Amino acid sequence: MTFNDLQLTEPLYKAVQKVGYTTPTPIQAQSIPAILKGRDILGCAQTGTGKTAAFSIPTIQLLNSNLNNGGRKTTIKSLILTPTRELAIQIGESITEYGQFSDLKHLVIFGGVNQNSQVRALRNGVDILVATPGRLLDLMDQGFISLSNIEIFTLDEADRMLDMGFVHDVKKVIKKIPAKRQTLFFSATMPNSIIDLANSILNDPLKVSV
Ligand code: AMP
Repeated sequence: MTFNDLQLTEPLYKAVQKVGYTTPTPIQAQSIPAILKGRDILGCAQTGTGKTAAFSIPTIQLLNSNLNNGGRKTTIKSLILTPTRELAIQIGESITEYGQFSDLKHLVIFGGVNQNSQVRALRNGVDILVATPGRLLDLMDQGFISLSNIEIFTLDEADRMLDMGFVHDVKKVIKKIPAKRQTLFFSATMPNSIIDLANSILNDPLKVSV
C-alpha cells in the first residue's frame, strides 16, 4: 500500500510527497478511503500512529473539492475538537503542511490567551477550525462562531477529553452541529463511557483499531 493507492487528489498527494511520507500508517490506510467515501469513523488509536493525518488529509480533500464559495464569506465547514492547546497547535501545523497546495483557511483557537487575534481571524473567514472546548464555547456564546455549516466533525482524543472533565462542554458543542454531517471519532481507549458517547453521535461508523 502506498499513498498512490489512496485516491488522493493532486494537491494532497503533492503535499504528502513534499512532507516525505512514503507509506500510509495502518490507521491512514484504513481510514482515508472510507472518509473520502463519506463514512463515519470510530478509531481506536494512540498519538504517534499517524491519526492526525488520517483525519486531516481526507478532510482537506473533501472540502477542497466542494469549494463553491462564489464570493461568499467563508464559513466553518469542519470542526476538529481536541482537549489541549498543545494538541490543537500540532494539528494546526499538520493542516498547514497537508493543505499547502489547497485553497482552504484554517484557524487554531484555545484558551489562556487573549481572544482578540482569534476573533479577527474568524472575521476573515475560516474553513477548518481546530479548537479546545472551553474557548470554542466562549466564542460561540459571544456570537463569533456558528457551527451551523459544519459538514465534517472530528473529535480527537475523546477519552482524554472526558478524563479532563469536558463531557458537558463536548455535548453542548455537538448539539450545535447539524445532525446531517460526517463524524470522525478517535480515542486511545474505549471504556463504556466512550462507547456510549460514540454510539450517540456516530452513524454506522467504520471501526478502525490500531
Ligand atoms: P500523530 O499520531 O498524528 O501524532 O503522528 C505522529 C507522527 O508521525 C507525526 O510526526 C507525523 O508527522 C508522522 N507521520 C504521520 N503519518 C506518517 C506517514 N505515513 N509516514 C511517516 N510519518 C508519518
